[in-house]
Amino acid sequence: MAIRNVVKIGEENLRKKSKPVKDFDVGLWELLDDMKETMFHCDGMGLAAPQVGVLRRVVVMEVNNAFYELVNPEIIKTKGKDVEEEGCLSVGKFRGRVERPMTVTVKAQDRFGYEFTLTGEKWLARCICHEVDHLDGVLFVDKSIDKDKYIKNGGKI
Ligand code: ZN
Repeated sequence: MAIRNVVKIGEENLRKKSKPVKDFDVGLWELLDDMKETMFHCDGMGLAAPQVGVLRRVVVMEVNNAFYELVNPEIIKTKGKDVEEEGCLSVGKFRGRVERPMTVTVKAQDRFGYEFTLTGEKWLARCICHEVDHLDGVLFVDKSIDKDKYIKNGGKI
């Protein structure tokens, strides 16, 4: 396992759409293991592959002491609304409020290619949305209620 470099806002790769994973092989397992180590090292709640410069649909998360790996995640159901402050390892110190669904159901594959669904509430729902957005080149600052404040303070988009 290795700690990978987390790319910062302004880097082109953060704005690209990631491609689906087709090969559930050792290359994917190494990526997942490295992403897990990198996320723990940076004290993050979630990490998406484009944040380590890999344009594949791969996400790791740790919410409420439970660890998750999502490959090719697809949000299939959302319910309710919730507003909380978010941050991002690729954005730096800025934290801003984002409206997200209160409940999210995601369909994904595990590291061996087996499909599963996961339903999360509150912070898990928020984390799923935040990380899936990364796979489409979307960052939380784009959606933040505090975007104007962020830009006024010199924040990059
Ligand atoms: Zn992020």
